[in-house]
Amino acid sequence: MSNAENDLSNERLHDFSRSSADWFWETDTDHRFTYLSDDIESKVGVPIDYLMGKSRRELATQLTNNPPGDWEKHLAALNAREAFRDFEYCALTLDGLAYWFSISGVPFFDEQGEFRGYRGVGRDVTETHSMQVELHRYRSHLEDEVRRRTEESLKERERAISASQAKSIFLANMSHEIRTPMNAIVGLTHLLRKEITAPAQLEKLAQVSASADHLLSVINDILDISKIESGNAALDELDFELEGMIRRVSSVIALRAQAKGLELIVDIRTLPTVLHGDPTRLSQVLINFLGNAVKFTVQGSITLRGQIAAETATDMVVRFEVEDTGIGISPDAQEKIFEAFEQADQSTTRNYGGTGLGLAIAKHAAKMMKGDVGVRSMPGVGSVFWITARLGKVNVAGPEFIVPEAVGVSTLVVDDLPLTQAVHSQLLKCIGLNPIAVMSGQEALSAVQIADRELHPFGIAFIDLHMPDLNGLEVIAKIRALPLRYQPHCVLVTAAGIQSIVDEAKSVGYAAVLQKPASLAGLREIVSQLLTTQGSQFQYLKEEKRPCEALLREHKAGCRILLVEDEPINQMIARELLEDASLVVHVADNGQQAVEMALSTPSPYDLILMDVQMPVLDGIAAAHCIREKRPDLHTPIIALTANAFSDDRRKCLAAGMNDFVSKPVDPDVLFEIIWKWLSK
Ligand code: ADP
Repeated sequence: MSNAENDLSNERLHDFSRSSADWFWETDTDHRFTYLSDDIESKVGVPIDYLMGKSRRELATQLTNNPPGDWEKHLAALNAREAFRDFEYCALTLDGLAYWFSISGVPFFDEQGEFRGYRGVGRDVTETHSMQVELHRYRSHLEDEVRRRTEESLKERERAISASQAKSIFLANMSHEIRTPMNAIVGLTHLLRKEITAPAQLEKLAQVSASADHLLSVINDILDISKIESGNAALDELDFELEGMIRRVSSVIALRAQAKGLELIVDIRTLPTVLHGDPTRLSQVLINFLGNAVKFTVQGSITLRGQIAAETATDMVVRFEVEDTGIGISPDAQEKIFEAFEQADQSTTRNYGGTGLGLAIAKHAAKMMKGDVGVRSMPGVGSVFWITARLGKVNVAGPEFIVPEAVGVSTLVVDDLPLTQAVHSQLLKCIGLNPIAVMSGQEALSAVQIADRELHPFGIAFIDLHMPDLNGLEVIAKIRALPLRYQPHCVLVTAAGIQSIVDEAKSVGYAAVLQKPASLAGLREIVSQLLTTQGSQFQYLKEEKRPCEALLREHKAGCRILLVEDEPINQMIARELLEDASLVVHVADNGQQAVEMALSTPSPYDLILMDVQMPVLDGIAAAHCIREKRPDLHTPIIALTANAFSDDRRKCLAAGMNDFVSKPVDPDVLFEIIWKWLSK
């Protein structure tokens, strides 16, 4: 086949072009069309005559949507006589429609090697292009949308943060506003109690005081749940003595239980003595469980039990249960009582009162402590409320509880409740005693006789006051009447700490009265006194608050206290309380004045009582300033804070304060803390 035959004739070109959507073209050295497929008009909508002799650039410049950068690059490639592929440009048809074309081309030369122009193919890509444009528009719309939504959610977050901050500020203000008048009510009631002697008026005063306490507990719950729900509550992190915490918790409930004739049993034998966590939150939950148990139980007993549910090298899950023999809760109600404001049935509020917040707070508290809460209950039989909490282990050498004189001494435990028997026996074993338990007064009498006959007499007998057959007072009378070689020391065990029982116990020959729930420390104290002192010197050991007011008067009279408080009525109350305890009081109206007074006196104050929320300069800033300006000054600063929970207190400690009393101030607590710091 000759070259001539291989050359593409016009006819051939025409056929190729017709069989495809593409077309052929040729341009001269100025890039003007010198050849185009015959059917070009049907493919681009423009007559061939219109196109011939024009350059692509001329045709394209009629439109603005050709990116100029692309054309510059394309023209540079043409000037360099380079081949090009798929160059896309936009041109208008004669009726004004925009078309997109894609062209590819190669340069061609004459026999002398002179550049003659370009030849190539063209194609209509309007459809693909508009799809791309659509896609592009869609993508940039999406990007815009994402940007807009991100901005919106950032704004939303900012709004939520500022709403939560506003809520915290509102809560702090509410707390302050409510507690300030409460402080006046509590304080003035305390002061009046000293001045009034008429029984009828004292009775009314007691009612004022009880109502104030009730109001305060409702306010505390409402503020607390709002605080927890707005995420503003934090947990304390400290080592605490478990038995002490349980003792405080049960002493809050003991009187109420006793008034209803309910037995309160505490069993925390298997728990460690010291743990790490937030004792205030834990106490709050247990007080709520125990308070409800007393409220909803008419007769029977209430048991507080503590166990280790799981353990690792560093921490443990502790489970507390409060069991009652009360009215119980229906399965339906069990599901909702842990929600805020929910009560088991509509009549509950009418019959028993309450806000329905305690269990909701308990649930939040448990979650905060990485635990849970729950209930098992049967209507008419009773309920068991439980909470688990993850608490840190504390490496302390277990305190030595053994009383040397007690080791091996036979001890009789007389109690009709098996659980109380078990708890008391276990505690007595820890001290070194050898306990034997019996269920009734009659059994006690025969046990004492047999032991005496067999020359293994009981050294001590712990006898419960309330038992079905003989009560504690009758049992001792019968024991004392027995012809024994050795009469045991007898200790009366009772939930009632009232003086008349103590007096009666003393008159019938009891050596001591032990108030339930018994603590290891309390038992130890009784046992060591009984076995180390000659004879049975009478003593009454109950978990009583130390009379710190009297201690202050006796040992710290004349100590100088700087009282920083802006409310005139609170100033008056605190001043009177402190002066009653023989302390010397100077008052500052705000933090600024406090700083000046604390730093300017030649001899430093013995103690500073600092309100937290005050005008001019608040308590935290004032404490900070005092500590910063006089780091050598070790005067204890005690915050008077409106919040019993950790976050406020943490701020106080961080500012250099030493301790805190929550408002409204309980005078006994105030004296206890002042005594603690003045006697350091
Ligand atoms: P409050 O006692 O102030 O109403 P709580 O949240 O502590 O609020 O309790 C919610 C409800 O759960 C109570 O109103 C009561 O109906 C029910 N409840 C709680 N504890 C007991 C219990 N030990 N026995 C029977 N019902 C209980």
